[in-house]
Amino acid sequence: MQSNRRKFLSKGAVAGVAGASTLGFPMIAKAQQTFNWKMTSAYGKGSPFYMEGPGSATDLARRINEMSNGRLRIQVFGAGELIPAFEGFDAVRAGTVEMNHANSYFWTGKTFAAQYFTAVPFGLNFQGMNGWLYDGGGLGLWHEVYDPFGMIAFPCGNTGVQMTGWFKKEIKTVKDLEGLKMRIPGLAGKVYANLGVDVKVLPGGEIFPALERGVIDAAEFVGPFQDRRLGLHKAAKFYYTTGWHETATVSELLINKAAWAKLPKDLQAIVENACAACNVISEGWCQRNNAEAMEDLIKNQKVVARPLPDPVIKALRDETRKVLAENIAKDPLTKKVHDSYMAFKAKFDSWSGYSELPYHTKIRG
Ligand code: CA
Repeated sequence: MQSNRRKFLSKGAVAGVAGASTLGFPMIAKAQQTFNWKMTSAYGKGSPFYMEGPGSATDLARRINEMSNGRLRIQVFGAGELIPAFEGFDAVRAGTVEMNHANSYFWTGKTFAAQYFTAVPFGLNFQGMNGWLYDGGGLGLWHEVYDPFGMIAFPCGNTGVQMTGWFKKEIKTVKDLEGLKMRIPGLAGKVYANLGVDVKVLPGGEIFPALERGVIDAAEFVGPFQDRRLGLHKAAKFYYTTGWHETATVSELLINKAAWAKLPKDLQAIVENACAACNVISEGWCQRNNAEAMEDLIKNQKVVARPLPDPVIKALRDETRKVLAENIAKDPLTKKVHDSYMAFKAKFDSWSGYSELPYHTKIRG
């Protein structure tokens, strides 16, 4: 912008003062315009990771404000402060607010393809998801999927791999899932339901009392830090690992496209780069806090952590494929996103076999 401005001013000097005032000043005025935007969230005020802490919605708004020298000021609202938790999509679409911070898989009722930009069961990990989004065509498809709704989005956070969840009783066979009452939302809930699980969808705050009273037998939430904060280890002993259903859950910054078009290029770049920063910083925060919480859960809280038995994992994987196939068949754009994701995943899995896998089995520890 600075070099454009210099060019303009020198042209103005040649053309005379009148030329500069009619041509040059409106451009400078746009560059210096201040924008006051609103960002809503699907998560409550003060929620760690999503609303507070490094890489959260509040931190993202702060970074944008600082990098833009106050030219783009964003007021952040927790769920229920301005709109209810899951109305962000409609609010941004209508332009009631310019931005919403959540996860795209909340919008699968609007377009199933949105699932792929948060997490697909048995999907990509953090490195793989970033590879697909930033360099494998994923982000372009995300924008294509939201274009008919007049919105764009950027990845702006990641929990890393989540955990299978808390179970009161040991899971030894696929039959142990039959009739099990489990809190698990979304696509993974459909997969469990197909294997006979009685799926319950409860908000975060209701999980602990339900698990403690035996209203449910099992529950998934996020990972060690967030789960311990809810006290889930006090209500169930078995902590199954790892998060087959959410292998690297992406946070989404959803933006109204008409509002976005009004931002000068440098402010657009600031938003996009602040999102990328928060994507990495929030995942780093999760790694540190989950490592500390897991150590405490094992050593001090006597939690039993183990992977699900192989036949159970196989049944979940087979059922996931069926559920995805049903949804691809219904919508060509979902199929396009699915095919791109899976083609990238096949290449990434092969490369991981030479890079990440030997790292975990031969090099680390
Ligand atoms: Ca979860």
